[in-house]
Amino acid sequence: MTEVVRAARGSTLTARSWATEAPLRMLHNNLDPEVAERPEDLVVYGGTGRAARDWPSFHAISRELTTLGGDETLLVQSGRPVGVLRTHEWAPRVLIANSNLVPDWANWPEFRRLEAAGLTMYGQMTAGSWIYIGTQGILQGTYETFAAVAAKRFGGSLAGTLTVTAGLGGMGGAQPLAITMNGGVALVVECDPSRAQRRLDTRYLDEIATDLDDAVRRVEAARRERRALSVAVLGNAADVLPELLRRGVAVDVVTDQTSAHDPLAYLPSGVDLADWHDYAAAKPAEFTDRARESMAEHVRAMVGFLDAGAEVFDYGNSLRGEAQLGGYERAFDFPGFVPAYIRPLFCQGKGPFRWAALSGDPADIAATDRAILELFPDNEPLARWIRLAGERVAFQGLPARICWLGYGERDRAGLRFNEMVASGELSAPVVIGRDHLDCGSVASPYRETEGMADGSDAIADWPLLNAMVNTASGATWVSIHHGGGVGIGRSIHAGQVTVADGTELAAHKIERVLTNDPGMGVLRHVDAGYPEAAEVAAERGVRIPMNQP
Ligand code: NAD
Repeated sequence: MTEVVRAARGSTLTARSWATEAPLRMLHNNLDPEVAERPEDLVVYGGTGRAARDWPSFHAISRELTTLGGDETLLVQSGRPVGVLRTHEWAPRVLIANSNLVPDWANWPEFRRLEAAGLTMYGQMTAGSWIYIGTQGILQGTYETFAAVAAKRFGGSLAGTLTVTAGLGGMGGAQPLAITMNGGVALVVECDPSRAQRRLDTRYLDEIATDLDDAVRRVEAARRERRALSVAVLGNAADVLPELLRRGVAVDVVTDQTSAHDPLAYLPSGVDLADWHDYAAAKPAEFTDRARESMAEHVRAMVGFLDAGAEVFDYGNSLRGEAQLGGYERAFDFPGFVPAYIRPLFCQGKGPFRWAALSGDPADIAATDRAILELFPDNEPLARWIRLAGERVAFQGLPARICWLGYGERDRAGLRFNEMVASGELSAPVVIGRDHLDCGSVASPYRETEGMADGSDAIADWPLLNAMVNTASGATWVSIHHGGGVGIGRSIHAGQVTVADGTELAAHKIERVLTNDPGMGVLRHVDAGYPEAAEVAAERGVRIPMNQP
């Protein structure tokens, strides 16, 4: 069954309160054709990250949210509503657990068996927890990452540098714009023309080349002229990267955002785009072997660029792990992006804070942008981002904004937004959430917790504590997922979303959630022995029992 889903707009409720209208609109927004990669299959982004298990589950969740009371909580088990329980007004209105498996069973074949039997779904991070806001969500993180690359290697700007990467999907589509926002030139390999076209249509990508020769000509000219430009070339990364290396193209930065975390979502070299999904479904084991062999070739070329002096990093898609399984032994010669660039931010409780205007009115986001600039006048990189985002980001679905804020900042922003709803400066409530890729909400040894100072990479108590803390603090919906970002067996993570409806009760909840949620990031990094985090805790008064003098 195919149908078009779009969130309601405006300030009139279709549910009984904003606390239930908000998850309802955000679930629907996740499946808006402007937002979701394959809405007809309920797939939002990231390979097969779904918003609901199937269409009957989607309708049942929508129905329940429409009638749910202020002292009731809806339970969602991997995209299927399984119960409504009596709770209280401080409790979340929705509790979600997605894709979780007992560790010894946590592998793709077992997951797929259960998925095919209709017993689970892949929730990714913000797909199954209803706070995906389109490619902008990742744009800011990608912008931060490339800004950090520029600061580390190229004197603060990517001007005059060429970055080669692949994948123009829901997340990967942010790469070309993040690179040009940092002044650089991007060459992005994508095997599916419709994905490249979509990024062109939404202004995330500047040009699509006719072939590799044309692409190389365009990017080399832009690099010479120090002109920001992004060019997509259609092809398979496992073929194109080795070819670029063979040709000796001068490449400064190399990374990748194909859906390598799921070998069935990575097109092996030699397989036609048209045969991809039938082949993967018919012969998953054979397809997996071929995908891993291709990833080995892909990563071999990346290591070739590393040896030639380029800045090379894994962008959180498990490509190195899969290439290693494909038989390439030097796969881990280059680092993941979190230890390389992001961990110092995590130590300050910083992470991808985001909000969406339930009104659907872009003017509401413009007003919150101004509020952020007023609240943090001394933060120049933040101001630059907010200005550029206002100019260059085309909204997908409900208007939304993201910026990285830390401990002591998120609560201030949230409380200000709540005041703006109360005073009528905003035309309807906003929801405030974040990606699961945050400072204190994820255990993922190939990504967010790679190379922790104390070796605690795989300890997964932290995301569970995070979900419990947000539940205890008054978040409107809370989720615990497995396998997002890097795939089944490789991560456990949690999310929260809180509604700012202008009430005093919402202010109390926002103040606690938006203090305690990033607080988890600070204390997790203090516990792992990071002195920067200990300084933040001491300075801003985060109480940590084992850290007392
Ligand atoms: P997606 O499935 O929407 O897009 C992947 C794209 O890669 C598709 O357009 C596909 O056509 C293309 N592709 C697949 N195989 C290819 C090949 N061999 N050559 C060229 N193109 C190929 O996924 P997405 O949402 O864009 O996510 C990409 C990856 O990044 C995932 O593994 C995801 O888990 C990971 N991820 C990273 C972060 C981060 O912060 N770094 C955050 C979330 C997700």
